[in-house]
Amino acid sequence: MKNHNEYVNELVNKNNFFIKKKYSQNFLLDENIIKKIIKAANIDENTFVIEIGPGFGALTKYLVKQAKKVLLYEIDKELIPHLNKLFNNYDNITILNKDFLKVEDIDKDIDLYLDNAKDICVISNLPYHITTPIIMKILEESKKIDRLIIMMQLEVAKRLTSSPDSKDYNALSVIIQDQTKADYLFKVPKTVFQPRPKVDSAIIELKLLNKKIKDNNYYKFVHKCFSQRRKTLINNLATNYEISKDKLKIILKKLNISVKIRAEALTNKDLKNIYNKFKEEEII
Ligand code: SAH
Repeated sequence: MKNHNEYVNELVNKNNFFIKKKYSQNFLLDENIIKKIIKAANIDENTFVIEIGPGFGALTKYLVKQAKKVLLYEIDKELIPHLNKLFNNYDNITILNKDFLKVEDIDKDIDLYLDNAKDICVISNLPYHITTPIIMKILEESKKIDRLIIMMQLEVAKRLTSSPDSKDYNALSVIIQDQTKADYLFKVPKTVFQPRPKVDSAIIELKLLNKKIKDNNYYKFVHKCFSQRRKTLINNLATNYEISKDKLKIILKKLNISVKIRAEALTNKDLKNIYNKFKEEEII
């Protein structure tokens, strides 16, 4: 019997499967990397898993064996018969032919297909063109998802997990790290995919923090602080809000923050202090 990777390779190479660029299809074909990702996800017989974009089931074939239950969202209807065939011996899997971004109520699906569970683990070799919207959808809409083990372009992985003063640090880093503990796990070279993407990838883990209400106004403020990377924070804020540079200097001095600083050198905590001051002074 052919192993899984041979099966996928043959389908793709003999043009029996049409690869869809619009869905960012890059299938993982390296068993060692696949195992490494599964290991990093730390799944046991009590874990409930959501996988977004299973493709031909490279990761799924381990998930069904190790997890309690698995819920798949796959947009490409051409993949569904393959997934049905591969996993028809398992009764702990649900395969949904859906665009994840159009799922109306993630937590309702979890109630329905994952036994009303909490602390759900999301695992995904994400479709690259919608990495950020998928993460933001989960952070904004689900109260039941607890951690994400996700693959994305290396550059984005570095950005999401970087600290102040690194060249990758930007508004998105702050917003993601306000809501999660973000850890860079390991790099995945472009050579292990079929078809091969142009850039390398990496796996990161996002562990959701026990959060009060997410403050979208704060995130808008963060975006404004970073609006022009080369400008100082004071210049960005003076352009975006009705406030003089002199007044801004007074605020920063009170908070013990240098008046020459750029947003990229500020921690989430600094930014939040400035934001709170802005609210106090009714600038926002
Ligand atoms: N996990 C597989 C495939 C990764 S490629 C592997 O590692 O081999 C990305 C997968 O996401 C493809 O199967 C693609 O069809 C699917 N996909 C793309 N956009 C999607 C969306 N909006 N919702 C659900 N799945 C999507």
